[in-house]
Amino acid sequence: MSIFREWGIEPIINVSGSVTRLGGAPMPRAVLDAFCAAASDSVPLDQLQAAASRVIAEATGAEAGIVTNGAAAGLMLGAAAILTRCDIGRMEQLPFTETMPHEFVVAREHRNGYDHAVRAAGVRFVEVGFHEIVAGAGVRRAEAWEFETAFGPKTAGVLHVYDINAAPPLAELVKRAHARNLPVLVDAAGELPPRSNLRDIIATGADLVVYSGGKAIRGPQSTGILCGRRDLIGSALLQMLDMDDHFELWDPPADLIDKSKLAGIPRHGIGRALKVSKEQIAALLTAIKLFTSGIYNRELADMERMLKEIAASLTNAPVRCQLLPSDGQTYPMLEITLTSGKNAFDVCRSLRQGKPSVQVGHMKLAQGTLIINPLHLNAERTAILIGRLTAEC
Ligand SMILES: *Cc1c(COP(=O)(O)O)cnc(C)c1O
Repeated sequence: MSIFREWGIEPIINVSGSVTRLGGAPMPRAVLDAFCAAASDSVPLDQLQAAASRVIAEATGAEAGIVTNGAAAGLMLGAAAILTRCDIGRMEQLPFTETMPHEFVVAREHRNGYDHAVRAAGVRFVEVGFHEIVAGAGVRRAEAWEFETAFGPKTAGVLHVYDINAAPPLAELVKRAHARNLPVLVDAAGELPPRSNLRDIIATGADLVVYSGGKAIRGPQSTGILCGRRDLIGSALLQMLDMDDHFELWDPPADLIDKSKLAGIPRHGIGRALKVSKEQIAALLTAIKLFTSGIYNRELADMERMLKEIAASLTNAPVRCQLLPSDGQTYPMLEITLTSGKNAFDVCRSLRQGKPSVQVGHMKLAQGTLIINPLHLNAERTAILIGRLTAEC
């Protein structure tokens, strides 16, 4: 019996993956145990974040890192750190930034809904490049020289949304930005797997990188990682922690926050609205350990077997199934293309509205294709899903 029935909500069959809209990734038992175990003792949150920093540094190769309230919170805190560094007067001012350099240069093609978090800290974007390939009006993507011409006295930093095929490549962008002493903030929230991206992105020299904790890492849905330069991570932590203490008594972790550099004890910063609990931190650190061990990859064969079972059961349905196998790290996927002439949006809606409600991947509905992501599947759900797909396709 699902706990959600207690409040009149029916659980759904989620074959859409770790999407936030449907509650994120399934947490392994060990992660849940860590969450519960952390609830029974009190600890100073700054010390716990300093311990998290050591775990994150080891996992990523970064100098330091903190657990944030999701990757989007990491983007906001990372931007706040770049805007203010260790200037507590500026921290107090955010998100009003007229009196400080506050522009971030970004490739126009990197603009997306998550950059609202960067703007929320007080950043104003200056866009470079065009969508001319999409417009059919050209052949070139954003180029490094365009960033250089956009750098000026109001520039505070650079935002880059990570993709292995990004233009200009991150390493090139970092080189140009660093020549002007500008830090680069990277959104890599959804770039795991491959596991190697946990180290390879920071290795480009990027100053700050964010990852979601509630996607492939399988931590609590509302966790994320912000990692990178120690001074910037210290600034981000300072702007997130609860600061209700006396300067004389305040003893922040020395490896993240240099008290001697601060004129006083700042008040609650812009990140106080993004607080992280000790339970979330303990759970995410446990999930990072599992993720980096490669143990999740052992489930891939099972996932592929369930997708094959679904495809086999649809042999007589008016669909064409294509199994996209795992590359050893990514999840295998099943694409189901409708051949009956039915509209895929209508089928998707019927699947959502029926009992139980089924939510499939909806990236390719315009091409008549439903996508099945096996992350949340087990034997029981697979059997139910087969029944629903057979009825609706
Ligand atoms: C998922 C995602 C985010 C947001 O991550 P949360 O952990 O849900 O806050 C930001 N940027 C990109 C590119 C993402 O895919």
